[in-house]
Amino acid sequence: MSSALQRFIKPNIRALSAYDPGTINCKIKLDANESPYGFKIPQELLSIETNRYPDSKAQGLREFLSASLDVLPSELLFGNGSDELIYSLITTVGGTVLSPTPTFSMYSIISRTLDQQIKTVPLDNTFDLDIDLMLRTVQDNDIKLIFLSSPNNPTGNSFDRKKILTLIEKTDAIVIVDEAYQQFSDIESFIPLVKKYERLVVFRTLSKIGLAALRIGFMIASPELINEVNKVRLPFNINSLSQDLALRILKDDVTMNSNISEIKINRENLFSGLLKIKGVKPYPSDANFILFKVDNAEMIYKKLIENDILVRNLNSHIEGCLRVTVGTRYEMDVFLEVLNKILIKE
Ligand SMILES: *Cc1c(COP(=O)(O)O)cnc(C)c1O
Repeated sequence: MSSALQRFIKPNIRALSAYDPGTINCKIKLDANESPYGFKIPQELLSIETNRYPDSKAQGLREFLSASLDVLPSELLFGNGSDELIYSLITTVGGTVLSPTPTFSMYSIISRTLDQQIKTVPLDNTFDLDIDLMLRTVQDNDIKLIFLSSPNNPTGNSFDRKKILTLIEKTDAIVIVDEAYQQFSDIESFIPLVKKYERLVVFRTLSKIGLAALRIGFMIASPELINEVNKVRLPFNINSLSQDLALRILKDDVTMNSNISEIKINRENLFSGLLKIKGVKPYPSDANFILFKVDNAEMIYKKLIENDILVRNLNSHIEGCLRVTVGTRYEMDVFLEVLNKILIKE
């Protein structure tokens, strides 16, 4: 960029680089925690009136989710992916943000985009919250928002429920429990607690259960907070096709539930398969991915690509670690076989 233009750009934006989801193409794609099971678009949806703006309030989806999650329609807010909700919430509240590390990168990226400070506290050696250090950090830094991905991306574990409750009860920050992977876990959701704690916010997304292309996330919070965040939401953020298709697919809970059960079964098989390979240490997961540790992560990552398999290289965040998404049974068999061969040859 020419230096004449540079002076117009805010310093916090100048310091950033655009998020790059990566451009490596492999036949077996296990890098982004997507579902291996997509959905067909029914013919009827072709009748959408393309000349009309979408329903700004997403009434159909709102009523459906309000009933299925047992929350009030006024306790729901939709985002173009839950990424957008992180953006809207930080825009609304402002102030210093806290998250554990390693965790989902967007909490920190969006904080910096919005010129808000982000403090991070390392997870303990079981990848759980270091509650004492977090409480101290909240006290010392006037933290306004605490983002917790539980189950946590990229470690896969859920955080101790009591520790999360301690953060809600012993701080006066807004605590966001990001349940992007809740559907794959057998652990209780925090949604029912939203009525009890006015500073609790729960995030959900349809992205990990086969609808990433639609970009639909939602937050559950007190009507008062929803009302404030709704002021910064862009009016037509969820397009008509996404709203109608999501509603149609969610109504067929038999297919959705069977896809999710299948992924959970594949995850258990993947975990025991990884355990059997010498030199591989998988970490238990409540999500649709597994983090695993190897001796030579960079080499193995590259060798997998040479075999047309793409995983996520986390070596620069957690030493020696790669993250593999749970795919179809076939994909898991191929992945385990290739990984085994790579490690035998090493
Ligand atoms: C994938 C992911 C999201 C992203 O959700 P979108 O709805 O696709 O924007 C949010 N939170 C966590 C922890 C994730 O891993």
